[in-house]
Amino acid sequence: MIRTRQDIRKATLSDIQAYCSEQSWPSYRASQIYGWVWQKGSTAFDDMSNLPKDVRAKLAEDWDFYAPEVDLAQKSSDGTIKYRIALHDGFKVEAVLIPVDKDNRYTVCVSSQVGCSLSCAFCATGQMKRSRNLDAAEIFDQVKLVNEDCQRIYGHPLTNIVYMGMGEPLLNYKEVLLSIDHITSPDGMGMSPRRITVSTAGIAKAIRRLADDRVRFNLALSLHAADDTKRNQIMPINNQNNLETIIDALKYFDNLCRGRISYEYIAFQGFNDQPADAQNLIKLCKHFPVGVNIIEYNPIEGLSFEKSDADTIDAFAKTLTAAGVMTTVRRSRGKDIDAACGQLANKG
Ligand code: SF4
Repeated sequence: MIRTRQDIRKATLSDIQAYCSEQSWPSYRASQIYGWVWQKGSTAFDDMSNLPKDVRAKLAEDWDFYAPEVDLAQKSSDGTIKYRIALHDGFKVEAVLIPVDKDNRYTVCVSSQVGCSLSCAFCATGQMKRSRNLDAAEIFDQVKLVNEDCQRIYGHPLTNIVYMGMGEPLLNYKEVLLSIDHITSPDGMGMSPRRITVSTAGIAKAIRRLADDRVRFNLALSLHAADDTKRNQIMPINNQNNLETIIDALKYFDNLCRGRISYEYIAFQGFNDQPADAQNLIKLCKHFPVGVNIIEYNPIEGLSFEKSDADTIDAFAKTLTAAGVMTTVRRSRGKDIDAACGQLANKG
């Protein structure tokens, strides 16, 4: 379908103010419209019940909503739900709801790009190549749609948002930050930035830019190997951004921002789960306060990595803890529906 009208979610508040003044509407109309779009997450002008009918009709004549829709939801036996979300141009991305009822923790993992250009050797998304970046509204909508479902199914709103789905968020810098602005601003969803974590494969320049922008959310580095030789083998991005460069950028972030830093570390059998790997990882934890999340791997068809066994992971975690590193082991969630870390690939 060819659309000729602009998506109103691409307009800033001042664009909408200018438009309202062109229509000779009172100035408060602009904040009413903006509130419907970003506070209530409305995607239909007819829903805007405090606007006169003729105003709604004029808006619908001049603007559009390029709103994504859930076209498949799959529930895992552990309560995790994977959503396949169809974008207005036919591309699809995935978002995952991870409920931890006992802690009252409901986390959504959102995508920031269709596919990914970084080709990490262990990741299903990385095999897809990047088709395009998502815009801020398409990221915001994943949060909105999953939040609605979370309330419907679990009777609780989302408590946390992680940018760890398909794509490298820092290669879509502007739209990712704009989406966080809409999620955290009092004119938007009003969620605390402390509940948001953006994950990166390690793009030093962009990490420094986050620091210069004084962002208030948390930052996770997808580390997965604690020396350059191994990291180069599984994450090609490490060739241009080696560990020293990334650590320097993280120090800079830590100096200027209050958000927490964490390392994500998927344990691959025989590759990065040995005592020497733990010692290298401990060295990387000395530069600033950082927590380590050790993640159980989910083997992906066609890729040669195997998951570490539980005893090896526990021993690895113990070594870190004994060295004073705050360590959490994350058992895999949603693996029966291919919703676990590194498995998102629109398989349906
Ligand atoms: S792990 Fe992240 S950065 Fe690497 S290919 Fe997958 S989606 Fe991209």
